[in-house]
Amino acid sequence: MTRYYPVSLALEDRPCVVLGGGPLAVEKMHGLLRAGARVTVIAAQAEAEIRVAAVEGRVAVVERDYLPGDLEGAWLTIDASGRDDINAASRREAEDRRVLLNVVDRAQFCDWIAPAIVHRGPLQVAVSTSGESPFLASALRRRLEQDLGEEWEPFVRLVGELRRLLREKRAPMKRQEAVYARLLRSDVRRLLREGEEEQALALAEEIMRAPHRGRVWLVGAGPGGADLLTLAARDALAHADVVLHDALVEPEVLRLVRQGARVVDVGKRAGGRRVAQERINALLLEAARAGEEVVRLKGGDPFVFARGGEEAAFLAEAGVEVRVIPGVSSATAAPALAGIPLTMRGVASSVAFVTAQGAGSAKADLGRLAAEVDTLVVLMALEGLADTARRLAEVLGGARPAAVVAGAGTKRQQVVRGDLATISALCSAAEVAAPATLVVGDVVAATAAQPRAAAV
Ligand code: SAH
Repeated sequence: MTRYYPVSLALEDRPCVVLGGGPLAVEKMHGLLRAGARVTVIAAQAEAEIRVAAVEGRVAVVERDYLPGDLEGAWLTIDASGRDDINAASRREAEDRRVLLNVVDRAQFCDWIAPAIVHRGPLQVAVSTSGESPFLASALRRRLEQDLGEEWEPFVRLVGELRRLLREKRAPMKRQEAVYARLLRSDVRRLLREGEEEQALALAEEIMRAPHRGRVWLVGAGPGGADLLTLAARDALAHADVVLHDALVEPEVLRLVRQGARVVDVGKRAGGRRVAQERINALLLEAARAGEEVVRLKGGDPFVFARGGEEAAFLAEAGVEVRVIPGVSSATAAPALAGIPLTMRGVASSVAFVTAQGAGSAKADLGRLAAEVDTLVVLMALEGLADTARRLAEVLGGARPAAVVAGAGTKRQQVVRGDLATISALCSAAEVAAPATLVVGDVVAATAAQPRAAAV
């Protein structure tokens, strides 16, 4: 419950009164003028800005202190006088006349409070903490200001114009919504941000004509928590019609998917088997051809041991537009979150990423790579870890430092440090659970860092 009911008031041409002539009164005057109100400022002494506005005919100024009766006929009033006697008197008059009054910084005297606002032309986002913390309100406003770049002003105007056009043409609601949804996730905003107005307009017109053109986004979800998603990934999730995701994607990330979108877990092991790659390809193609905005969401980076390359090639071959949004790969993030640098001056200057599973040639590569690079990062490390460690030890010796990082970036993050001779037994003892990544090299011992808490 809050005592406040949020509204946006239409004040154009309506009389409004500001009491006081200091900097706060200036700010309030500007706010009301922006909404087109007819503003009267009542103050014995007014800042130069107010006097200039009066000379220019933009406001009326009464050069004396407030007197009872001054609030008559006003739609909205603000007492920015900062004087107790005036505050008390204006409060009484507001009560008698049923005029809505805001007494600056005195919540108990206010009929209404002003939210912190993000202004983007016709788009306004208001933030209110019901007076609990103006500091938090403006901190949040600043955050929203960063999220909603200046391009939102022309974007909202453009969408507004197209809406009027579509309504004139009596386009069915379903089609209108398809156009708006498509505009929202298109490159129109980016083009506006980059000042390419003509291109933005051309693209918007194209979308008006053909809103249903499906495409597939291959999106990296990062190693775990939503905090390691890229902004582009977050955007893609917010605009998806359908999301096909792997088993490794955390629920916290899936919660960012647009409400109403279909979410399909293609990583689920049905009867011990994953959904076959051909089936996934077919689902992607079908959804894209149906005009849907398809997100193929993969743990980490879509092009690191994730079959993203195969999917991209398949879709391109089928004539479907594919876009890739890189992700923070666990190959680098898991060591980083455990405090293990992959390269370090004087310790390691080369690194290789490899998987412990898969075709025989990959397994053969393990020993060769181990001999050639300073740091080895082994994905899918848990299954057959004893065997992997033994084979690496044959090349590197059992004393080579090794660590296993599991569930990196999630609340379950676990780090086990040892060497090639001990790592497998240590992991069994610690009951380490997949997904887990093995790091082998002197970098593991070069940092005394303790296992850190997950970044979530
Ligand atoms: N495309 C993914 C890798 C998929 S292969 C990426 O770029 O991260 C799956 C392997 O990734 C797992 O077996 C494990 O080795 C690693 N992995 C994925 N998530 C992980 C996590 N949160 N912590 C540690 N390793 C992880």
